[in-house]
Amino acid sequence: MDNFNIALFMCNWGPHSAFQTLQDQRAEIPPEIRMIRIPCTGRISKALLLKAFEKGADGVALVGCDPGTCRYGSGTVTAHDNTADSREILQCLGLGKDRLCWATFLPDESDELLQFLVDFTDQIKRLGKSPVIPVGEAPEEVISGESVADIVSFHNVFACQDCGKCTSACSLAVAGKPFSPRALVTSIIAGDIDSPSVQDNVFACLTCGLCYDRCPSAINFPGFIRDIRAFIQKRKGDTHPVHGGFFHSLMRVMTSPGLTAKRWDWLPEDIVIDDESNVLFWGGCATYLDIFFRKHLGVKTRDILVDSLRLINFFDIQPALLHDERCCGHDLLWSGDRDNYKKLGALNVEMIQDLGVEEVITACPECYRTLSHDYQRQGIELNVKVTHLYSFLENEIAKGAVDFKKIDKRLTFQDPCRLSRFEQGAELPRMLISHLKAVSFQEMQNSGNSAICCGNCAWTGCDSFSKTLQVKRLKQAHDTGSNLLVTACPKCQIHLKCAMEDPFRGEELEIEMVDLASLIARTIYWK
Ligand code: SF4
Ligand code: SF4
Ligand code: SF4
Repeated sequence: MDNFNIALFMCNWGPHSAFQTLQDQRAEIPPEIRMIRIPCTGRISKALLLKAFEKGADGVALVGCDPGTCRYGSGTVTAHDNTADSREILQCLGLGKDRLCWATFLPDESDELLQFLVDFTDQIKRLGKSPVIPVGEAPEEVISGESVADIVSFHNVFACQDCGKCTSACSLAVAGKPFSPRALVTSIIAGDIDSPSVQDNVFACLTCGLCYDRCPSAINFPGFIRDIRAFIQKRKGDTHPVHGGFFHSLMRVMTSPGLTAKRWDWLPEDIVIDDESNVLFWGGCATYLDIFFRKHLGVKTRDILVDSLRLINFFDIQPALLHDERCCGHDLLWSGDRDNYKKLGALNVEMIQDLGVEEVITACPECYRTLSHDYQRQGIELNVKVTHLYSFLENEIAKGAVDFKKIDKRLTFQDPCRLSRFEQGAELPRMLISHLKAVSFQEMQNSGNSAICCGNCAWTGCDSFSKTLQVKRLKQAHDTGSNLLVTACPKCQIHLKCAMEDPFRGEELEIEMVDLASLIARTIYWK
């Protein structure tokens, strides 16, 4: 018989009194329910809700105080909103929204509470066991052959000439952080890897690659950091995650083979898809980012996917979609969780190759980098051509049969490091922008290969210097005199928008942002 596991997050105030009455009466509370007392349901973030599923819950109930009786005032509203967003995410993931519910009770509503617990348990049993396989705890020992010395020698960081070019270029140092890549390397070589400051710095690095670009000894510092993170993660299971680890949980949940996600159910009807196509459009995590951020940052990353698909349709291709597409794993790789990254990679490659497509087009710079290079470098073979949407578009637009409507805006552009620097792809978006009919286009002070980062990468180590960097970047955008910041990465939009939310500086930083694919899709027409 299946043993079901239902987590009940229960507020300490109103509903707990009702629960205690049930216990006093020795009422038959379903044995599948594991009650976790919490100070207020408003404290249970989306990250904690998802974590419960990552750890093997088949269902989760969040039970709080009746509206108007929350001791903290806003707990009920926060819990309601978090549950609504998380249910939508569970639906996309393929777990189904009904595995999570939210309910409120008064202290004297013990009968109603019991009925709710019985009904919810029945509902979860009807849905069956969750397909998520809990990811095991990190083993204590490091796998053989992967020591700090191996990583140091593999990346040949001894070749450092101590010239300081990396430090003067580093995005974080530019933001004022007392941070030096070469000093960090020296501390790690000296055996200080467990010191708190080394660990903080290892996870603060943005892996943006500016230092690598400038290093006369070609020391691949982002690669070194990635591998040191994997070493730390193996020993301590720590990735210094931001947003309570929500995104890392999301990716780890997706490593369960039995999960059948419904990632594209929300697509508008005008998008034409052909399951038999030999071209696959790969969307990435913009679907989930949209649900997570749209309420408090107002970023609509799904629009990037819709507009990309509209453009592909515009050029007469009806691509296939993987309805149970998983995350490419970029952020797991770059935050140090290599085992789960490899699991995701293997599942993705199997699904793509089973489709029999010849080409994968993606608009996300991180997915492009991961599918085209990092899988292979980590021993996962994907024998399909991977194309960035911009190459596809430039190819089509260069044929000359299209024109663009006027854009009454002055444009500037935020380079995504994974495309512009890592893939030497800075020219591509600029070629596309040159076709557009905007009032003007002005580069920011740091652009192309030299662009500074949007302030965060891999949902790891966002700190006050990340914020400073975002503020700096937005000021650079304003300094160009532009009034539309064109982006090419959904996460760049999210991180930069995050800085605009600052109540003290928001207005001075505020600038309209749009993804390049959206700008093209909304202005292109056949001649
Ligand atoms: S990868 Fe970026 S943040 Fe990290 S040390 Fe190099 S320049 Fe600095
Ligand atoms: S979010 Fe964009 S700019 Fe920031 S690290 Fe990722 S690709 Fe680079
Ligand atoms: S910049 Fe904002 S959105 Fe980005 S990781 Fe940091 S807190 Fe999150």
